[in-house]
Formats: sequence, structure tokens, C-alpha cells
Amino acid sequence: MTDCIFCKIASREISSEIVFENDEFTAFKDINPKSKIHILLVPKRHIPRIADISKDDTKLMGKMMLQAKFLAEQLGVADSGYKLIINSGPDGGQIVDHLHLHILGGEKVGGAV
Ligand code: AMP
Ligand code: ZN
Repeated sequence: MTDCIFCKIASREISSEIVFENDEFTAFKDINPKSKIHILLVPKRHIPRIADISKDDTKLMGKMMLQAKFLAEQLGVADSGYKLIINSGPDGGQIVDHLHLHILGGEKVGGAV
């Protein structure tokens, strides 16, 4: 999508601190980190919200969760623990309309749940 900031990060039109990339995903440091480690893992395909996924995305979503686990290992927080968050829509606090998984850790992470 042309006017999407995370599409632009994934295509490297906008620079960002990318920590991982493959054919389907990009992971980069959140510009306004809410914990010592705060990474955003995004599918390269523009999916606005988790509310927009379908059965066809079953494999993609499974790979996304597995990649989050690998990233947590790479970032050294697998044992200390971490929080994975997906916000969806206004009440969910989603600001950027491109599906993304927050990976938070490196210290005790707060949150609603
Ligand atoms: P959400 O509220 O779930 O939509 O989260 C959006 C996240 O994107 C926020 O934590 C922002 O700090 C982060 N963000 C926005 N713009 C950028 C950017 N250019 N590079 C990295 N992170 C960003
Ligand atoms: Zn996008």
C-alpha cells in the first residue's frame, strides 16, 4: 500500500532499525519504545488489522508467532520473558493500520492484562 508507513519500512523507502527480514516478514525497533526491548514484527503484505485475516492466512500467522519466538531468543529475552501484543482497531489502541506484533521485554513489562 502506497501510503502506509510500515509498508514503506518493509520496502526500505523509509529507514528504520531493522533487526530481521525474510520473504514474508520484517522486524524493526519501535521508534518510541515502551520497554527496554520493543520490536515490531510485521508481515510484508499489507494487512490492515488482525480483524482482516482469513483462513488463507493461517500459515502466515503461525509463522509470525514462531518468528516472534526466534526473535526473542535472538534478543536474549527468551528466559527472562516477554510480552507479545497485537492491537486491533480504535478500542484496541491500534494507531498504525498495518498488522504488527509488538515484542516487549528486557525488563518487567506492564500492561492491561
Ligand atoms: P499500535 O498502537 O499497535 O498501532 O502501535 C504502533 C507502533 O508503531 C507504536 O508503538 C509506535 O511507536 C510505532 N511506530 C510508529 N511509527 C514508527 C516508525 N517510523 N518506526 C518505528 N516504529 C514506529
Ligand atoms: Zn502497510
